Amino acid sequence: MAKDAGYIKLINTARWRRLRIKKLQAQPLCGCCKGKDKITPATEVHHVTPVESVTTIEQMEILMFDYNNLMSVCSECHNEIHAEMFSHTKENIKKANKRRTQRFINNYL
Ligand SMILES: [Zn+2]
Ligand SMILES: [Zn+2]
Repeated sequence: MAKDAGYIKLINTARWRRLRIKKLQAQPLCGCCKGKDKITPATEVHHVTPVESVTTIEQMEILMFDYNNLMSVCSECHNEIHAEMFSHTKENIKKANKRRTQRFINNYL
């Protein structure tokens, strides 16, 4: 996934590194595995609302450093979460295309 320049800038700040460590210390287990009754140490921090879902650097900064927007995860779950978000997007595109086709049929046939 291509990362936005603003995102890269924020993820490389000392502020983010500190916050990330703080989160992993406060929540050392993968929040995703815990839901599946598995105990896995978290190694990564996920943003529940994706930082790239907003367009301005100010809004990105808010999401990036919002402690309540963070979730400790293991790398396996993290990959899964992102793969799922991507497939949802694809699914939405398909649905939108279908709606467009339907509208076309309604209008012209
Ligand atoms: Zn996990
Ligand atoms: Zn993530």
